[in-house]
Parts: sequence; C-alpha cells; structure tokens
Amino acid sequence: MKTILVLGGAGYIGSHTVYELIDNGYDVAVVDDLETGFIEAVHPKARFYEGDLRDKAFIDSVFDKEKVDAVIHFAANSQVGESMVKPLKYYDNNIGGTRTMLQSMIEHGVKYIVFSSTAATYGEPERIPIMENDHTQPTNCYGETKLAMEHMFYWASLAHDLHFVALRYFNACGAHPDGNIGEAHDPETHLIPLVLQVPNGQREHIDIFGDDYDTRDGTCVRDYIHVCDLASAHVLAAEYLMSGGKNDVFNLGNGVGFTVKEIVEASEKVVGRPIPAKVAPRRAGDPAQLVASSEKAKKVLGWKPKFDDIDTIISTAWKWHSSHPHGYKA
Ligand code: UDP
Repeated sequence: MKTILVLGGAGYIGSHTVYELIDNGYDVAVVDDLETGFIEAVHPKARFYEGDLRDKAFIDSVFDKEKVDAVIHFAANSQVGESMVKPLKYYDNNIGGTRTMLQSMIEHGVKYIVFSSTAATYGEPERIPIMENDHTQPTNCYGETKLAMEHMFYWASLAHDLHFVALRYFNACGAHPDGNIGEAHDPETHLIPLVLQVPNGQREHIDIFGDDYDTRDGTCVRDYIHVCDLASAHVLAAEYLMSGGKNDVFNLGNGVGFTVKEIVEASEKVVGRPIPAKVAPRRAGDPAQLVASSEKAKKVLGWKPKFDDIDTIISTAWKWHSSHPHGYKA
C-alpha cells in the first residue's frame, strides 16, 4: 500500500483529498499546524502530526517515521486580503515553509510532489477560458507566493530527482456529500458560504460586490469547482507522477462561469426561500471574469469532474452549513 503525506490535510481542500485517498486504498499521513485547519476534519484513519513546515527538525522527524511515496502539499496561508496587508507573513510561511519542507523531502529521497496552486497566479486574464501557458502576473501577494512556489519546484526538479505537478484551481466550493466535512474559514470571505449564512440566520443579506462589470448581468463571473472534484484531481496527479509522468501544470475548473447573481439565485432554489442581496461597491482586485480551460487535466490526467451542475454543488454546501452553522466549532 502506498503512503501519501498530505501537508495541510486538516484544511478545506486537504481534508477532502485525504478522504479521497483513503477511499482509493491509500495509506495517509497528515501534517498540519492547525492555524486554519481543524483536527475534526482529519480522517480518523490518517496518522496526524501537528507542526510547522518551517521547523526542519519537525518535518525531518515526519519523513524519518513515514515511508512516503508522494507528498501532496496544501499547507499555506490563502487569504488574498490578508496577503495584501501582511505580505511578509505570506513570504515567510508559504515560501519559507515550502523551502524547508522541500529540503527535507529531497534529503529523504522522496521524489514526487503534487502542489496546490491557484488561478491567482494568472492575475488579470489575457483571454477566457484561461490556458495553462497564458501569462502569469499575479495581482496579489498570495498569488505571487504560489507562483514563486511553482518556480521553486521547477528549479529544484532540474537539480534533484524531484518531480512535481502544480494544480491551479479556480473557485473551490461545496462539501463532502456525506455532510461531515466542509468549508470553515474564519473570517469567511468566499461567496457561497456567505450567501448560505443568510438562510442560516447568520446575516441579513449578501453584498454583491459590483454590478457594473462587463458581464451578462454586470456581476463577476467565476468558475466554481466542487472540492471533491479537486480532491480526485490530486489523487490522479499523484498517480500520474508515481507512474513516470513529467513535471506539469494543470488548471482545475468546470469550464463554465456563473455570475454572483446566478449563484444567489441557484442558492435560493436549493434552500427554497428568498435570499436578500444588496449591491455594494466593487472589491479591489477582482477581475470581471475568471474561467478555466481544464482540457489538459482531462486529457493528461484522465480527470472527470463529477459535480458539474451548480445546484448540486450548492446542495452539498448547504447540507454541510445547515448542519454545521459554526463549522467545526460546537
Ligand atoms: N463576492 C460577492 N460578495 C461577497 C463575497 C464575494 O459579491 O460577499 C464576489 C466576489 O467579488 C467574486 C465572487 O463573489 O466576484 C467570488 O468571490 P470569492 O471570494 O468567493 O472567490 P475569489 O473569486 O475571490 O477567489
């Protein structure tokens, strides 16, 4: 049985990937510092190590204990707004943590890493849908650090026996259909959980950030991709590397964009009642449209998103949020 080490496996996408790995017969170890992750999100069959990737002695001790076949790396700070007011935190934790972990990984002879990257590496898109070889000019510090991490893997792979896949996701959303794990950020900044706080009685209305964009209804278009589909892509990417696949970068999205207003309408349909919305000023740094081409992941990795309609995606999110209105907190 192959062992996969999931860094950041107590976080939103990491925890869903651990479930997917275990469902597919892998042995899993998880590292997380629990700064933004939750111990309750860690699959009971995974071995858990609490610690920080910048702590070389800690990460060495994990690689000493575990016979790791491949690493899947989610452990990073990921809030765009915070990255603009605390850029050095992002350089230190995201880039510094990855550098130290990579050193340890190479010293322990572990060759394969799947890396959680982001659509924020592109910045303002040059065309829609966005292709993997389009320009990468991040417009926020979060995206800049993720791009630097991709480059770190590239240069390290030229010097060492190291092979990587970077997965650039678009808007991760939804929750595991069994309703036991889901999205829990504090503070919450993402659209779907915020919309669902209205029917959950936690907010009066949802603010729509700008209705004067050049889109079909004036609100921003995003490519919403279910977290379990992201999880399956990580498993496929690890298998691709372990069977000799070469370094590569893949977009992960549905290829279909929805506007903010369409998300609010779909959520009303799912919860069966009106969700009041108010138009608010644009949020700084929001491009009008972000939609991925994921043809390459489908072709090369054999990836097939299962949750391709927005009502089903929002239903899974609602199942989680309505049963866990405060996330993992009691
Ligand atoms: N958005 C909104 N109101 C909110 C939160 C988000 O109108 O309270 C919009 C935001 O401007 C963007 C889209 O919803 O166009 C998705 O935002 P989110 O923060 O979920 O993801 P992002 O696209 O920034 O990664």
